[in-house]
Amino acid sequence: MAETSNARKRILSGMQPTGTGALHIGNLEGALRNWVRMQDEYEMYCCIVDWHALTTRYTESGEIWEACLQVAADYLAAGIDPKKAPVFVQSQVKEHAELHLLLSMITPLGWLERIPSFKEKRDIMVEKGEGDESISYGLMGYPCLQAADILLYRAHAVPVGKDQAAHLEISREIARRFNRLYGDVFPEPQSHISETTAVVPGLDGRKMSKSYGNAIYMADSADEVKQKVMNAFTTPTKLRKSDPGIPESCVVCQLRRVYDPEGYLTSWDEDRAGERGCVQSKRELVDILNAALEPIRLKRQEILADRAELERILADGADRARETAENTMRLVRSAMGFK
Ligand code: ADP
Repeated sequence: MAETSNARKRILSGMQPTGTGALHIGNLEGALRNWVRMQDEYEMYCCIVDWHALTTRYTESGEIWEACLQVAADYLAAGIDPKKAPVFVQSQVKEHAELHLLLSMITPLGWLERIPSFKEKRDIMVEKGEGDESISYGLMGYPCLQAADILLYRAHAVPVGKDQAAHLEISREIARRFNRLYGDVFPEPQSHISETTAVVPGLDGRKMSKSYGNAIYMADSADEVKQKVMNAFTTPTKLRKSDPGIPESCVVCQLRRVYDPEGYLTSWDEDRAGERGCVQSKRELVDILNAALEPIRLKRQEILADRAELERILADGADRARETAENTMRLVRSAMGFK
């Protein structure tokens, strides 16, 4: 199944519509920018994996569609061109469910039990006092659904953040097991880790994440960005302008590195030398960030102002994704002996 040209390689990209669905600048810099670069080189599918959101939010199923629209708006505003890369919602391509069911039959329980993210999610839900009843069969089967998402497109690679390379291993194991049992249907998906992507720190110094409440969102207004940056974590021992800063552990300096790759070093030197205060650094960062985010913000507002058009783009994306998915399912059914 060796492919020689990147143009023919297939990539499956996806994100979950968590919470309100709005994506943050960690998602933008760590994932979306990379997808935008890849859409010309590869045959790429951009999925919004809404069924995954049910693994922890089954009581809020009615809110998930709106969250999907927000994710779609962020994808498009970041520069994904739906003509090049179909943008679609997982639940609109039912083949994801069929392949998930078939793969679930050949996935040993032990593989799922040892996944660290399952243990983490279980611990978080127990901590929140949600009890054993909230730990569903679907939550445990999450990696199997993810494997189905990827294998359904017979993807060669999946772009993952540096933090997530291990997540793909179980998809590869499931692909190998299927191929061994029924014949060679699936390429083993590789992690596509871009060397240029940064891990973006959140306002409190931890990794930026929806679940930590430390994020700047692509949808945030200029004022919200300002408020968040002015309250961000800097060098704790730098109380006055003349105190030396430690840019390596200062969120404001780290964000500047991401958004001002040409100019950040001068500001870091001044910070270290006690020649600039944190307030100056924060003000400058607000301007730099808002200049970078403004065009994205305007584009996402424009996209969300016409929901019917956005839903049409998603329906068209689903049609194109389904065509590829249906081809895979024919191979799968035939390999397993189903008509
Ligand atoms: P979150 O932690 O906010 O829930 P996800 O885990 O859903 O984000 O990640 C979606 C994508 O965004 C992944 O490709 C992930 O690697 C990337 N990503 C998430 N947070 C960051 C970050 N702080 N810096 C860089 N990339 C990130």
